[in-house]
Amino acid sequence: MATLFDPDTAVGFVRVAVERGVDHLPDGLTYAIPADLGDLAVGDRVRVPLGRGDTPTPGYVIELCSTAGLDPARIKPVASRDASGALPGQLLELARWISSYYCTPIGMTLSTITPAAVKRRVGMVSRTLVDLPSPSPEASSPEPPPRLSPKQQKALDIVRALPPSERPVELRRLAELAGLRTTEPIKRLIEKAVLTGTVRSTVEATWVEQALDRTVPARLTPGQQQIVEAVGAELWTGFSAHLLFGVTGSGKTEVYIRLIEQVVAAGRVAVVLVPEIALTPQTGGRLIGRFPNHRVAVLHSGLTAAQRHQQWLLAADGTADIVLGARSAVFAPVPDGRLGLIIVDEEHDGSYKQDQAPRYHGRDVAVRRAQLAGCTVLLGSATPSVESWFNATVRHSYRIHRLDQRVPGLRVPRVTVVDFAAERRLRRDRRVHLIGPTLESATADTLRAGGQILMLLNRRGYANYIACSDHRCGWLMCCDDCDATMVYHLDRQLPTGGYLQCHHCEAQQRMPEACPVCGRRVTKFGLGTQRVEQELHHKFPQLVEGETMMRVDSDSMHGARDFHEVLRRFGDGEIRVLLGTQMIAKGLDFPRIQLVGVINADTAINLPDFRATERTYQLVSQVAGRCGRGSGPGRVIVQTFQPQAPVIRLAAADDYEGFVKLEAAERQRCRLPPYTRMARIVIRDSDYARCRETAQLLAESLRGMVGRPRPDATPAIRVRGPAPCPISRIAGRHRHQVEVFADTAAELQALLTAARTAGVVRPGAGMAVDVDPIALM
Ligand SMILES: [Zn+2]
Ligand SMILES: [Zn+2]
Repeated sequence: MATLFDPDTAVGFVRVAVERGVDHLPDGLTYAIPADLGDLAVGDRVRVPLGRGDTPTPGYVIELCSTAGLDPARIKPVASRDASGALPGQLLELARWISSYYCTPIGMTLSTITPAAVKRRVGMVSRTLVDLPSPSPEASSPEPPPRLSPKQQKALDIVRALPPSERPVELRRLAELAGLRTTEPIKRLIEKAVLTGTVRSTVEATWVEQALDRTVPARLTPGQQQIVEAVGAELWTGFSAHLLFGVTGSGKTEVYIRLIEQVVAAGRVAVVLVPEIALTPQTGGRLIGRFPNHRVAVLHSGLTAAQRHQQWLLAADGTADIVLGARSAVFAPVPDGRLGLIIVDEEHDGSYKQDQAPRYHGRDVAVRRAQLAGCTVLLGSATPSVESWFNATVRHSYRIHRLDQRVPGLRVPRVTVVDFAAERRLRRDRRVHLIGPTLESATADTLRAGGQILMLLNRRGYANYIACSDHRCGWLMCCDDCDATMVYHLDRQLPTGGYLQCHHCEAQQRMPEACPVCGRRVTKFGLGTQRVEQELHHKFPQLVEGETMMRVDSDSMHGARDFHEVLRRFGDGEIRVLLGTQMIAKGLDFPRIQLVGVINADTAINLPDFRATERTYQLVSQVAGRCGRGSGPGRVIVQTFQPQAPVIRLAAADDYEGFVKLEAAERQRCRLPPYTRMARIVIRDSDYARCRETAQLLAESLRGMVGRPRPDATPAIRVRGPAPCPISRIAGRHRHQVEVFADTAAELQALLTAARTAGVVRPGAGMAVDVDPIALM
């Protein structure tokens, strides 16, 4: 099925990265440019014939090239060019870096960068824009004006009466304004050249009105002012990276806004990244409210496909001055030369890391993008990641700025650490209470005083262990396909009152009536948000789920809209208690929160993951920062089984620097990131023996490539494993891992590139490569 194409008619050649998971073609495939596509440019999205069947396959032009080394007669031509979706050159360069750094095929990387809605052109419509003809200079002897019908005259009068800012006006809109049932009279006017009509393709998307916050603080605190000046001075001096370490409530957002003002005033674009969808309603409302005359494009997972397409185009055609979004907004198609500033808010947040290929970290990609664009990048957090702290204070690759005072009017909350075990002994009854006496009485006081409450438990469901009531039997309900226990979820719709779900593969099962081994009763152990909800209602009958109390986790929230609606009702005071997982720990800013309860601060502390302590610190400290924003100072109660653990003590004291020094020393002692760089390679296979064998072979090959360490020194690269992953099987696939540690990123990259070239590392379905991993389960 060879395409009929005369190679002599080619006007040039291009390298195209096709959207297929082919890894051995990092530089793309060569195609000829047919005469009718003579202006093909780097970044264009094209379709090219691929394989024996010449299957039309989408891809991107990554380079214009010569045919050196290839027989021109064997080169196929580019089939067509897509009308939208072209990428700016810098973004393409960024994609090549990601492909190399994160070990992902270039085609797959490029495919991630452009949203599916853009590729499918969702919501594209043609609209006719109507206007008055521009007066021509030789109009001194005009033809007699055409005779107009009353309807036509009415439409013409309306257009003439419109202020210039509202012209051109959309055809249907004009018909509406003129009280016409059809657009026919206006079309006649266009035919008679009384009005002009221009057809334009746009994307139409409907939006829900967002609450805008236009409050401008009277003046900046001296601390804010100093940082705005320091970072502002470097805005036009090429690449610079900054870490803004500001305690919660110190007014980081205001610093961002003042810097964005400078950038936008200079005709440049600012990209603002926020974690997940959680922060978008509040941060978004504030940004849009403060920049009413500038277009803010919003990119996040809560958008409809048409909205996403529309917003992407606003960024691509240079209309938007500000792009706001979650992780993937780092790929905003801002035209080359326009980017002035990238802000990564809450830079420590885990949602910046993508958990499938390409496994990139939005913050690190943002720094790279700023480097390519020669602009400023500002990372902000009250609890910076140990990585960023290291980059700022040890490597000095980021400039650090501190905001250590809360803005006037915000008070430091009073934090009480409660020994959960001791409180349980105080209780007379033998029932398990998740809310101890201290938290219970504080809840009662707060409700009585009319305040609002956040209750954090980072575990959803009702109970996470279903076991035989006889501990000598020891039966424990596990997922059939995963190395994990099943979690019990309440569901009043079901006759059994609930169901069991695996939190790794989502499989569901029925609750067993009795222990399948010994026939005794089964019991539910462990805790989840549903159990807390039940207990709160039991202790405080005025708290009713769905009315005065709301549970916020991925079971109860089905998308961004649900969550935004809950936040609105909480803001209105209708909901008194928000109970939830880490979704509620992030960036919520409500003045009436007077109590924050952490049900169990230990849920993450003992996980076999070296970042568990860091995550515990961040979670406790971030949720505590949610209160004290209103009239009273607010109270935080942290229940824990380990009241003496340094991480709990330091988080309660809001002593980030104390914590990070301790944690950094521990990482350095154990030669863990950021003191080393790490890649984790997970082999997945439904066959256990084959999984182990592949992992064994991989580890041996990598060790062979590293070579023997010098006897006098610690090796610069260590290969650890193979070993079963902490969760050794998910969805029926066994998992074995090999971990690679190198002293520097360059050494790690050199090894991975060599291993990829040699075919030792082949990222794909059976092998997941994660560079700078943050989840180690
Ligand atoms: Zn499972
Ligand atoms: Zn049993």
